[in-house]
Amino acid sequence: MSTRTQHLQQETRTFQTEVKQLLDILVHSLYTQREIFLRELISNASDALHRMQFELLTNSEVLTPEAELAIHIHTDQEAGILSISDSGVGMTHDELIENLGTIAHSGAAQFLKHLQDQQDDKEPIDQIGQFGVGFYSVFMVAEEVRVTSRSFRPDESAWNWISSGEERYVLTPAEKADRGTRIDIQLKKDALEFADPWRIRQIIREYSDFVPFPIYINDDSEPVNRRQALWRQPSAQITDEEAEAFYRQLTLDKDPPLARIHVHTDAPVQIHALMFIPAQLDRSLLGLKQDFGLRLYSHQIRIQERNKDLLPAYLRFIEGVVDSDDIPLNVSREMVQNHRIIHKIKSVLTRKVLQTLTDMAENEPENYARFWKEFGLFIKEGVTTDPQDLEKLTPLLRFHSTKGDDEWISLSQYVDRAPDDQKKIYYIMGESRTAMERSPHLEYFRQHDIEVLFFEHPIDALLPQAIGDYQKFVFQNVDRIDVTPSSEQKQASAPQEDGLNSLIERVKQVLGDKVADVRPSHILISHPARLAAPEDMLDTGLERIRRLMEEDFSAPTMVLELNPNHPIVQNLIRRLERQQEDGIIDATIEQLYEDALLMEGFHPDPAQMVERIQKLLEAATRI
Ligand code: ADP
Ligand code: MG
Repeated sequence: MSTRTQHLQQETRTFQTEVKQLLDILVHSLYTQREIFLRELISNASDALHRMQFELLTNSEVLTPEAELAIHIHTDQEAGILSISDSGVGMTHDELIENLGTIAHSGAAQFLKHLQDQQDDKEPIDQIGQFGVGFYSVFMVAEEVRVTSRSFRPDESAWNWISSGEERYVLTPAEKADRGTRIDIQLKKDALEFADPWRIRQIIREYSDFVPFPIYINDDSEPVNRRQALWRQPSAQITDEEAEAFYRQLTLDKDPPLARIHVHTDAPVQIHALMFIPAQLDRSLLGLKQDFGLRLYSHQIRIQERNKDLLPAYLRFIEGVVDSDDIPLNVSREMVQNHRIIHKIKSVLTRKVLQTLTDMAENEPENYARFWKEFGLFIKEGVTTDPQDLEKLTPLLRFHSTKGDDEWISLSQYVDRAPDDQKKIYYIMGESRTAMERSPHLEYFRQHDIEVLFFEHPIDALLPQAIGDYQKFVFQNVDRIDVTPSSEQKQASAPQEDGLNSLIERVKQVLGDKVADVRPSHILISHPARLAAPEDMLDTGLERIRRLMEEDFSAPTMVLELNPNHPIVQNLIRRLERQQEDGIIDATIEQLYEDALLMEGFHPDPAQMVERIQKLLEAATRI
């Protein structure tokens, strides 16, 4: 390659702008948890060793093939130097520039934003590894860093990368006979603790105990880390402490997991898996920004850092490790994706996760409520995206309802306590829980003691269609015009008094095509009006989702129902009869309509009502 011959000399390069900004913060801020830099460097060394292990399976053209896959740490307390070396894949001249000088993905910028957003969090620095910029954490403790690396590719030479965390870094040709990377850190005066082998040992035990390659300190021939493939051990032999330590090192999550799921099977496919349900939702999972997926191993060799095909997407909040000897080691990573073994593993793992959740829901309702609060949205997503899991997912759904304050209920609880003649699962949707509580749609149901579920999230609107009917109960939005038994409807459509009929005519005239129809209501009690969905309209919940997605702020065309017994409606009838044309009738009609829109969360511009309200107040206060 011609590029190599061009770089025989020392060269000075400038860091990318975002990297400079990040370095500036890392060099100058005082973080109490500085020791995580070691975890990050060991994690990089371990990644390089994993990749080397994978190369060794398929590639015979490698430098120093006999070198042990290991990490060596050397401390020099007098000189204040800490060195970390690995026999991993190493880096070429160009890879050093690409990996340690620029950031192709926007990791640095994202992490800077994270640091700003999390100012109340005492240690936002802890998350650095998740943004793909963990290496730079070394500048919290380093006066100067020298990375000496030689690629495993036999015809590449070794290079030094040297930086003190300021604007620039320097590349110089280096002498290094064996493959891999060595990082020499000249420690800052206030960071000399990291040249103490006991302190290093302690940090490794805490953060890197499960790194599967031996980590040696100085001339000790015993590795300091325990290197266990915990997932291969029988469940009964794993203590909670061990499992939690493993989880912490895997995920960097400070909180212990809500549950762990251990899977050992031999048929139809051999699997050792250790999976966890975190206690808290990582918010970035909702937007899919953060990388997710299980670590995939075969014969204890890691072949993929994040595999997204081992579980359905709706279970992407699950963390863990999967190891199967049935996955051939010599397949390419691309082929792993489509391998039929992966499909088999996926179906076993999915079944286990759903079984764990089902058991938790039945036997540990409090834990399940915690789960539901954090991850309920993902279960709902699964209901709408994965029909093959519907039967197992539907019983996992929870809702708030008009009976019971903050208690979550399942569909089966709803159905069980419904009276014998009830054949529907009633639900209400709205802008917020408080708005729904006040909704005119609920009056009838409260009066008749019929339970109504609160659909609090827009995605809930998709559930009825996805589920179909549940134990022969069909879902029914309480905002439909035909929501009550047909006998009551007939009664309501009996001939009206003339006064009411003229009012209805007037309302139609005033509102024009803003409404599909105007009718007397047979379900309202204390509210003067409501907006109901006509028969030919899709569920208004779907209408809500469409509006969210299209940012459509116009109001949907619905049926305005008036309560003939309400004083406002009766006053309007009387004013019409007396032909009091001072503008109040029309202003009141418009206001009633917009009040109803507001209650539905469909009002495009509430502030615009103020002028009219004040005009009405003026009339009301006149003496
Ligand atoms: P990440 O590990 O998330 O990619 P880092 O900032 O920790 O981000 O490391 C940046 C990149 O530098 C790594 O992806 C890797 O390509 C390279 N790198 C760092 N340390 C080593 C090492 N010891 N051996 C080989 N490559 C390394
Ligand atoms: Mg890293």
